[in-house]
Amino acid sequence: AVSLGMPPLPVVRRKSRQVMVGSVPVGGGSPVSVQSMTTTPTADVNATLQQIAELTAAGCQIVRVAVPSQDDADALPAIAARSQLPVIADIHFQPKYVYAAIDAGCAGVRVNPGNIRKFDDQVGGIARAASAAGVPIRIGVNAGSLDQRLLAKHGKATAAALVESALWECSLFEEHGYRDLKISVKHHDPLVMIAAYRELARRCDYPLHLGVTEAGPSLQGTIKSAVGFGVLLAEGIGDTIRVSLSAPVVEEVKVGAGILESLGLRPRTLEIVSCPSCGRAQVDVYTLTEKVAAAFEGFPVPLRVAVMGCVVNGPGEAREADLGVSSGNGKGQIFVRGEVVRTVPESQIVEALLEEALGREWGAHA
Ligand code: SF4
Repeated sequence: AVSLGMPPLPVVRRKSRQVMVGSVPVGGGSPVSVQSMTTTPTADVNATLQQIAELTAAGCQIVRVAVPSQDDADALPAIAARSQLPVIADIHFQPKYVYAAIDAGCAGVRVNPGNIRKFDDQVGGIARAASAAGVPIRIGVNAGSLDQRLLAKHGKATAAALVESALWECSLFEEHGYRDLKISVKHHDPLVMIAAYRELARRCDYPLHLGVTEAGPSLQGTIKSAVGFGVLLAEGIGDTIRVSLSAPVVEEVKVGAGILESLGLRPRTLEIVSCPSCGRAQVDVYTLTEKVAAAFEGFPVPLRVAVMGCVVNGPGEAREADLGVSSGNGKGQIFVRGEVVRTVPESQIVEALLEEALGREWGAHA
């Protein structure tokens, strides 16, 4: 029995097969990876590599590029060779681009079964080429481009239809002895997506790529992804994630990393524990929090920093944090691991927190 006084249990991950996307393992108990997709025209090699560099700096681990034309396919060798991240080629319709991506040295390929159906007879060739190159393939089912036959059968893109599409496409590859597969079944509704991934998790052992598709602008997309991924990941379902936002790609990576950190699936970096402010606040909590977050961005070790607007909850929260401040009377009490170490004027709070952070050795959180 687990007592409420005990620390929360870590997530027990679903057992899945492992595939290698370049140097990044996906599934088989490996850490859940964060991926994103470039928004530049893939044929523009320099712009695409620049965006990949930004994604790399933000903590992205796998990057996907769209390959809608021959010009894009022609750019793949240069991108795959110079990218710091494993590159997955995202391919609809055209098997010839799948071969081009494999030949180009891409670390993976995503195919959409809704679109590739008319090329069923080419699955064997693709499987042989991918197998020879050690390249995994993601069966990426998308509610918006579901196979017409399944759409007619199920009436709409239900969870059952998404799962049937994915497993049917997997079976085509399995007929050729190819099992280096990942699966995604994306839907814009987190409830449908949750149901679909749960069913897939029950019916196969392929690693699962989580996504809420067309999630929307930043705030809405973040909420939908956090809800959809959060439920599944807490149940141990999900091996790699992509947050889709109508926002700069680096945002997707930050949200994805934050979701994993919140669930204890990735070591925390910076965590700001700040109060929402209320009528008792004796400082502008929003501005102070923004300044503290900016000052600590990129801090080399994980830290939990508390920013409290008054002394009511300040000491209590600060006890749980590595360091923190609670404000009152134009001053800030600076805490380090629950002890008040100094009191400074409000204008020096950020500087004082940074000094205390830099002047110490920091171990793991309690
Ligand atoms: Fe209000 Fe103080 Fe709590 Fe902030 S810490 S929400 S100011 S009571």
